[in-house]
Amino acid sequence: MGCHEVVQRALKAGRKLLPEHEAYGLCGEFGIPFAPARLAGNWEEARQAGEDLGFPLVLKIVSPEVVHKSDFGGVLVGITSPADLRKAYDRLLANVREKAGHVAVDGVLVQKAMPRGVEVAVGGLRDDVFGPMIMFGSGGILIEVFKDVSFRMAPFDEEEALRQIRDTKASELLAGVRGAPPCDLGTLARLIVNAGNLMCRVPELAELDFNPVLAYPDGCVVVDARMILS
Ligand code: ADP
Ligand code: MG
Repeated sequence: MGCHEVVQRALKAGRKLLPEHEAYGLCGEFGIPFAPARLAGNWEEARQAGEDLGFPLVLKIVSPEVVHKSDFGGVLVGITSPADLRKAYDRLLANVREKAGHVAVDGVLVQKAMPRGVEVAVGGLRDDVFGPMIMFGSGGILIEVFKDVSFRMAPFDEEEALRQIRDTKASELLAGVRGAPPCDLGTLARLIVNAGNLMCRVPELAELDFNPVLAYPDGCVVVDARMILS
């Protein structure tokens, strides 16, 4: 599906928030690597998605009303068998009902579990003065605690993205601490550049949030994506 189709369909339906699986549709269009995932509307669809994707898996709630999914028990990791998946499916829906009340639920996202990596974050916003901007920084909760972020005006090239990475403390983690191998900065820089291109080429996109992006010695992958339309 063309990128504008995802966006136009959401806008036509009066939706400003692109859920994770739709955000990945846009990622695919712009060469941004993401964890394979499928939206399931019921248990049978979830079971089939699990079988097709293969274990280990992560299960996530998909709801326009739940922004920080893990705050509501809306992310379950470490699913290694069909029996685990069944339990996780029931648990996930129960968690959200208990902790978030009667929120609208679009379904569950069955997602391939990615290996542990260095967690970083890439964000995008549209500034009134500077236009599309891309943020890079430490991922997960570190971003909120340490505010370790650096901004660039999009579009920009890989060299600039590498400088942006080096502006942050995250670059020390990416270089490898305590004997850990260094992460590949080239693929990460390309991801950041492509996020900038996405912001520039999709004017309806007000904000994007990839948190975390997992970085590895041989690549990187987005495992949580959110996009907001204007
Ligand atoms: P939230 O809405 O709470 O930010 P996330 O989708 O980011 O939910 O999931 C919470 C955490 O779970 C992530 O920060 C990451 O550490 C882990 N995680 C999520 N998806 C995956 C995945 N596909 N593979 C491995 N770890 C994941
Ligand atoms: Mg997240």
